Amino acid sequence: MNTSAVNESSTQHDPNARFGARGYPLLPGAIGRSTFYTGTPMPYAVRGQGCLVWDDRGRELIDANNNFTTLIHGNAHPALVEAGQRALADGACFGIPNEHEWELAEALLSRLPALDQVRFTNSGTEAVMSAFRVARAITGRDGLVMALGGYHGTSEPALCAGGQAYLRGVPIGVIDDVTTLPVNDVEGLRASVERDPTKYAAIIIDLLPNRAGMIPVNLEFVREARRLATAYGIVLIIDEVISLRLGPHGYAAEYGVTPDLLTAGKIIGGGLPIGAILGTEEFMRCLDPAQPGSLPHSGTFSGNPVSMAAGAAALKLFTPDEVARLNELGAHARQTVADRIEPYGWEVRGAGSLLRPAPQGVAQVDATTQRKLWWQCYERDLLLAPGNLTSLSTPMTSLVVDDLVERLADAVIATAATIHA
Ligand code: PMP
Repeated sequence: MNTSAVNESSTQHDPNARFGARGYPLLPGAIGRSTFYTGTPMPYAVRGQGCLVWDDRGRELIDANNNFTTLIHGNAHPALVEAGQRALADGACFGIPNEHEWELAEALLSRLPALDQVRFTNSGTEAVMSAFRVARAITGRDGLVMALGGYHGTSEPALCAGGQAYLRGVPIGVIDDVTTLPVNDVEGLRASVERDPTKYAAIIIDLLPNRAGMIPVNLEFVREARRLATAYGIVLIIDEVISLRLGPHGYAAEYGVTPDLLTAGKIIGGGLPIGAILGTEEFMRCLDPAQPGSLPHSGTFSGNPVSMAAGAAALKLFTPDEVARLNELGAHARQTVADRIEPYGWEVRGAGSLLRPAPQGVAQVDATTQRKLWWQCYERDLLLAPGNLTSLSTPMTSLVVDDLVERLADAVIATAATIHA
């Protein structure tokens, strides 16, 4: 194998990297997603079952990554496998509608009774991107408001939330249309909108913005966003790609706020690719192809029967009782970890079945610290998302969560020691 042309730092001697005839790793940086990257070769997943994952280094890990919170029922849940397999056996995808779309639409909209309609996409990124376009089409305006440091996927406008580091390759015109504000900056939100209300098509809010530090958005901010949106004809989009799991009717319902459009993803596909835009008929009407001036929205795999069937099975199993049980386990986990790590200058953030340890008072933790903690967890056979987002899944019993919590707290304490050493 000729590896002479390979940039050594990009492959880091990854034993799993494969090289092409010209000596380059077949995947840029020898990795398939930026979000996997920890600067060091990652272990590869071999198999998952319930809340466990086995990797190519021979470890049996508690899976608190859950593909970045997607696997609400853990790995290979029998009911989801069966639903997905049955749909796959009947044909993976068709160029005409299939009845599983209705099945998932019913399952979703019965949880979100204030909304009428759903359009499926293949990812959360696509859902947000399309929600922006719907908002822009309805209002005839271009401006968007979003929280600085948040994340709404990798469409060009959504990348603006990430700040300077995310803007390479994003056209100036796109950047100019986006106003970013610190999370919970009520005054800033009001001032921005009232300065030029006719500029804005949409305000988008993630109620538990993971990358911005995972501190829940406060009620005053959400209410003010709702008030401004209604007063000035701006579309309020609540991005529930992660947060939908937090309440039986999603997280916005816990705030008592109804969005005009809601974006979803992750848990609603039973582990298969998915995204969705939901809204009242008034806002979703523009996606009806029979309407004059309707918006083109397609996607070869949108509404594919396998994602739809697995997603419907996943939502059926995620009953209000299961939501409550998982949220209680999450509250217990946050409290237990907090009690152990606070003496070391760390805290725990999150809500419901999601948690994230961080040094006290540091909203956005630096990548080096995140990676240290990730590896400390891995050494203790606990798998987090590389940014340290930790999620529970329904196969987890209280015994598993106690074990997880112990490993997580030990890992934080070991990480704190390396930072302060
Ligand atoms: N919105 C939010 C709030 C997200 O957390 C994510 C992904 N983590 C997205 C949108 C994008 O979803 P996807 O990765 O499915 O494109």
